[in-house]
Amino acid sequence: MYKIYREISNSAKFPLAISRGSEKQRFNKAKAMTNLVAKKMDSYNSNIWNVKCLNYFLHETVDKYKINFDILPEINEKYYGSVGTKLDVISYNSIRDFMKNKTGIELPNIPIFKKPCIHIKLNGFEIKIKLKKDGATIDDKYTAIHEIRHFFDHLLNPKLSTNRSSDIFKYPKEYSAKFESIYMGVYKKFTEEYKIKSMKEFKKNIKKEMSVLPCELRIVLLQGIRSRLKLENNAYSHELRARCKNPIKNMRRIIHNYLFVKNNLQIKAKLNFVNEYLEELIAAERKNISKNNH
Ligand SMILES: [Zn+2]
Repeated sequence: MYKIYREISNSAKFPLAISRGSEKQRFNKAKAMTNLVAKKMDSYNSNIWNVKCLNYFLHETVDKYKINFDILPEINEKYYGSVGTKLDVISYNSIRDFMKNKTGIELPNIPIFKKPCIHIKLNGFEIKIKLKKDGATIDDKYTAIHEIRHFFDHLLNPKLSTNRSSDIFKYPKEYSAKFESIYMGVYKKFTEEYKIKSMKEFKKNIKKEMSVLPCELRIVLLQGIRSRLKLENNAYSHELRARCKNPIKNMRRIIHNYLFVKNNLQIKAKLNFVNEYLEELIAAERKNISKNNH
């Protein structure tokens, strides 16, 4: 087991005055901010979105909060875009500085912890967007909207967005491969490629894979998955709503997107399953604790 210090830099989240409120309120704020940037882009040119222009409007929105982000071209053929984290994983020595800055406590210059320590610091984000061959025009403005929504959701919900990246270090190494395989398995699409034919089969597979993990880790893992599914649901819904503003022109992509999310990704069905399974595990864990206490 590792001892973990987690830190989210101010450059990777909005100040509390902005991100205060319920999850629903924060999601609505991210929605409004995304719409505002999209509106500015459209008023500049509603057909062709330029990446320099997007960079300018995003900076205009977040620079006053000193947010650290870069827009990069998505070069992976498989993806239209993604939002990645700028993450520092630092070991013992830097924990000394971290503790000193945060608490004023000065740790001795020798490892005082018997177990290894890790200090994780989220510094900012990398927004990757697929560009046309000219290297300046955004390939599809609606997938850019999807990524912008992720960006604002991350800034407003730092706990949701860093859930996965740091918790994994808490557990013995032999679990991390399993952790990753289950985590990726959840995002598998219901296509021939993955040979998952139904939701029933999907649930059975996930539960089987999880059975080798301790209950506590299963809970952590499912909580991380739940966060990711929520954020993906936000981004896909946002993208679809934006496409629907121009229904005639976007008809084919609207149908494709709608069917892809409903049949291939099945985010909502997966989210329901994760919530139910979590309840089940938490109840079992409670029972276990009260049994041990008697
Ligand atoms: Zn996404």
